[in-house]
Amino acid sequence: MGRKTTILVDFDHTLFDTETYVREKSASDHVDYKEFLYPDTLAFIKYASDFGEAVLFSEGDVEFQKEKISGTGIESLFSGGVKIFPSFSKMENLDDMVLNGKVIMVDDKPEVVDYGISKGFTVIRVRRGRYSGEESKDQPNFVVKSLSEIIEKDILQSF
Ligand SMILES: [Mg+2]
Repeated sequence: MGRKTTILVDFDHTLFDTETYVREKSASDHVDYKEFLYPDTLAFIKYASDFGEAVLFSEGDVEFQKEKISGTGIESLFSGGVKIFPSFSKMENLDDMVLNGKVIMVDDKPEVVDYGISKGFTVIRVRRGRYSGEESKDQPNFVVKSLSEIIEKDILQSF
């Protein structure tokens, strides 16, 4: 057996089109969260699951994150489960997570990308959503515009 691989997958702006959600939610009192998953989200989770244990790795208002995530129905697709931390704390909580073997991080947010790089993770930055115009300080292993680009280029196979 090879080393265990853990794939940490971010939620907002990575799997979920938070910008469109924020724009449209005020116009309606009933929200179907599934409608705001990016079109490549389900295919990506399936693809990633072939390479290791996929963990949904999210931060924000915990109750609200839970509501959004369970509303999308994707929780059960993550073999490594769902981890939700209070706003701006997922990086600190990483230190308490037991991560053996290789870790691949998939995230849109520059400061999270930098943290992942500093931890020695393999980092794929998804440049979409709110932070797409911002640069990370360090260079991640890959920068993509979408999750489908990861699948098309079979990027996880290259690690
Ligand atoms: Mg994000």
